[in-house]
Amino acid sequence: MTKILNGNQLANEIKKEIVEDIKEKILKKNKRFPHLGIILTGNNYSSIKYVNNKIKECKNIGFKYTLIHLPKDSSEKEILNEINNMNKNPMIDGFIIQLPLEKHVNKNKIISSIDPKKDVDGFHPENIGKMILEMDSFFPATALGIITMLEKYNIQIKGKHSVVIGRSIIVGKPISILLSRNNLIGNSTVTIAHSKTPNIIYHTKKADIIVVAVGIPKFVTGEMIKNGSIIIDVGINNINETVIVGDVDFKSVYGKAAFVTPVPGGVGPMTRIMLLKNTLKAALNNR
Ligand code: NAP
Repeated sequence: MTKILNGNQLANEIKKEIVEDIKEKILKKNKRFPHLGIILTGNNYSSIKYVNNKIKECKNIGFKYTLIHLPKDSSEKEILNEINNMNKNPMIDGFIIQLPLEKHVNKNKIISSIDPKKDVDGFHPENIGKMILEMDSFFPATALGIITMLEKYNIQIKGKHSVVIGRSIIVGKPISILLSRNNLIGNSTVTIAHSKTPNIIYHTKKADIIVVAVGIPKFVTGEMIKNGSIIIDVGINNINETVIVGDVDFKSVYGKAAFVTPVPGGVGPMTRIMLLKNTLKAALNNR
């Protein structure tokens, strides 16, 4: 029997915890609601959809938000100017710049200019460094969402062999670090695969846990996994305006895996709620 890891349900439970924290730690102390800033550049279909979902979550939970939507051809200087405004604005607790950025801007320069204390996406070099050093910091939302999901479902990862497919700074690298760190939720032995890895099936066949973030529909199939494995599907592939599929061929792993995340309704809602959790953390840390 395969158990489906329900990200919607879990995200709702975490939402309740956040609401409680707001009551206890913010409102009782007469403080204002957490405030998330979002900088979006251009008109990428997926980016607009993600940003709208983030705004919807803010509205649902009562967070304030400010969206700065810049045109596609905005210069690096214009983007840095908006980042500087958010860094200095005491009303903004934390903010993100929606990725990917247009090709003409230097992504690392942009991310490095965010105040690490407001970097609720956790991509600033200082926060990535702290994560590697196992210090407290903002962890990237998707990786934090996956780790939290495994923890809440009481899935033991210590000593297990994890194969992470994809090595992006948004998903693959941070989840590899969190799975392998010497922590209560960690201590897994991690293999990272990417587009230059030959014979991926050799690795996936031996994996207890597979995290796949490649952006290729149905990349992982039932014949690539071993019985009883845990399959975390990060992929979001828009087939058309209404149909989204993951990086896992859900039907073919269902029945063979012990646990699987669905798409939609798996990692996505966990990512969004973790962004709010990080914003609450920033509000509590910074004020
Ligand atoms: P990305 O930056 O494009 O990275 C994709 C990774 O997959 C790269 O490391 C790439 O390898 C690897 N890859 C590509 N083709 C491969 C192949 N044939 N075999 C093995 N590895 C391959 O993408 P991303 O930002 O990590 O996102 C991945 C997917 O997750 C997308 O569908 C995205 O929409 C989704 N996503 C979902 C959430 C969520 O909350 N659910 C959050 C973020 C992203 P190289 O490094 O060698 O190029």
